[in-house]
Amino acid sequence: MTASPSPSAPLRLLAVHAHPDDESSKGAATMAMYAASGVDVLVATCTDGSRGDIQNPAMEGQPHPKRDMAGARRLEMDAAAKVLGIRQRWLGFVDSGLPEGDPLPALPPGCFALQPLEKAAAPLVRLVRDFKPHVILSYDENGGYPHPDHIMAHRVAVEAFAAAGDPARYQGIGEPWEPSKLYYDRAFSPDRFRALHTALEAAGLQSPYAERLAAWLEADAEGHTPPPPTHPTTTQIECGDFFEARDDALRSHRTQVDPEGFFFAVSAAMQRRTWPWEDYSLIESRIPVETPEKDLFAGLR
Ligand SMILES: [Zn+2]
Repeated sequence: MTASPSPSAPLRLLAVHAHPDDESSKGAATMAMYAASGVDVLVATCTDGSRGDIQNPAMEGQPHPKRDMAGARRLEMDAAAKVLGIRQRWLGFVDSGLPEGDPLPALPPGCFALQPLEKAAAPLVRLVRDFKPHVILSYDENGGYPHPDHIMAHRVAVEAFAAAGDPARYQGIGEPWEPSKLYYDRAFSPDRFRALHTALEAAGLQSPYAERLAAWLEADAEGHTPPPPTHPTTTQIECGDFFEARDDALRSHRTQVDPEGFFFAVSAAMQRRTWPWEDYSLIESRIPVETPEKDLFAGLR
């Protein structure tokens, strides 16, 4: 059952994401690079994104997202998948929304984050058994940032990695398949922001990261050093040639991404010169590996 691809069978990569647009802000260039090199890349999107707010001022007042946000986001997702050259599947859950206010309101009934784990993970287990990925990408325990759907996406990815190969679990939904490696993305790695910030200052340009970095330093001054990363970078994927594709995919999510915003503050060319990688932490491997790695499929080729 453990993955041992024959030379003719392609390697397969499955990325588990909470909402349509997360695949384009976390690991998109990695996925585009692997897809271009012949790897079968599939994104599993847990929720419909129906509770997302419009983040792009140019899309305010547009009738389609106003009437049917989930429908608008399906079209955006299709466009992003085309740009990245990947396939995508919906797991069918309803967006939980990001609770705001003090005290925080209760999550809406029926949403993804309120599902019992076995129910939330079942569609992903089915997909893993059907697609047979060698590698699964997910978020860390904090979901990258603490949106309830991101935390739930993390939990179902870990559950599917652990259980999909076990014939005693999730019976009746496909033949067991055991993926070989599980990674968490480190898209918001402080090392990367620090490097980009330094490069911008050296070029005499304004850094959009000053505030973020100052917040970390301020925490230092008060004696609360920012916590060290729970999961260090083990694996850097060189994918700078696909930064433009990543940016185009992000812009495809027109309701969610401001084309004048944070993600586009530094040109793809400068990012390529400064930090041409996307970073990952290898969490579990069922095959022998040596870190650091430069390939998510190291040990599988
Ligand atoms: Zn999200």
